[in-house]
Amino acid sequence: MEFEVTASRKRPQSLVELSGQDFVVATLKNSIENNRIAHAYLFSGPRGVGKTSSARILARSLNCERGASITPCGVCSNCKEIARGNSMDVIEIDGASNTGVNDIREIKDEVLFGPGSSRYKIYIIDEVHMLSNSAFNALLKTIEEPPPYIIFIFATTEIHKVPATIRSRCQQFNFRLVEVSEIKRLLAAVCDEIAVKFDEDALFWIAREATGSVRDAYTLFDQIVSFSDGHITLDKIREKLGLIGMDQLNNLITLLVEEKTEESMDLLDTILSGGVSVEQFIIDLAEYLRNVLFIFHGVKKESLLGYTADRFSSIVFELLNSRQIEWALEEVIKLFRDIRYSLNPRFELELLVSRLSSIRYHIDPKALLEELGRMKDQLENSSSVHIHPPQDEAKKKIKTA
Ligand SMILES: [Zn+2]
Repeated sequence: MEFEVTASRKRPQSLVELSGQDFVVATLKNSIENNRIAHAYLFSGPRGVGKTSSARILARSLNCERGASITPCGVCSNCKEIARGNSMDVIEIDGASNTGVNDIREIKDEVLFGPGSSRYKIYIIDEVHMLSNSAFNALLKTIEEPPPYIIFIFATTEIHKVPATIRSRCQQFNFRLVEVSEIKRLLAAVCDEIAVKFDEDALFWIAREATGSVRDAYTLFDQIVSFSDGHITLDKIREKLGLIGMDQLNNLITLLVEEKTEESMDLLDTILSGGVSVEQFIIDLAEYLRNVLFIFHGVKKESLLGYTADRFSSIVFELLNSRQIEWALEEVIKLFRDIRYSLNPRFELELLVSRLSSIRYHIDPKALLEELGRMKDQLENSSSVHIHPPQDEAKKKIKTA
């Protein structure tokens, strides 16, 4: 069988297959089932969460020859044509390359003619925020009083750039980033389908790396499957993609907590010699510290950490406090920000590791002041602590004597 990338193989074919957008699905389902079809829809949200796919699905739902339905048949000629992108009645326009008023004027003229072989003539305008002001104005007149057979579906990643006059005339749907646990569930389902074994933490890693986009998750997944030899593990991912292993990070942080600067520098060299880039080292270290901080604050959700909490070096929690981790994380992030201006990124990273080896002695000014305040209170409250009476009181005693 010919290999088809997972992202296109798993592209949702009906609204019920759309993942992680429950509100969108429920509302569209309602309006289709109750035959309350709007004439303009506006899909907004981050890239890769299914806006354009949903627009095509909605078009199919509305134009399926077997009647408007949230589960279009997928086999009638309308369904097939829309899927192939060559339906005469579903016109897709890329807002980014058709920004001018003339492009929109063309639409204005076209909408006067009804659909060819379908119920509706549907315009899908992607990246609609890219349209010029005059184009928006031209569009406004059309969506204010559209012929009954016209439907607009706008999609945008930048809703704030769409004029309020347009927004207010559309039924708006805000697409969300898909949750890590949901993406992981989808990946696990694909693994079952293609008979590939997986470790939980490996799938969680892919899911988190996708930052809310199912499409990105599938793309990364395909790459990882190709070198995983039938079993996806975090070790293979780390090795092939040049990331630092969890064990190495645990070792490093343990050495730092134990002030073993020399061994820390050695380990850093070993990791970099193993093919991990300076940038990747910083990213992985930042992520590790971020997770430790979460655990300090009691957050142990695996979908957020990507690991179970017990995989992190326990010595960190015994010997450090959350403020010290905050400081370390801040230093690492600062370096990440500055590294692109650096003449020698590696030196800077070595300096950072050297500094982090004194993490146990790091105390922030606020904590220091609080501690001093506590000591002062203690001194004032218990006179027995006074070995020598303070000057003022000594003077008083002399006076009364
Ligand atoms: Zn159909």
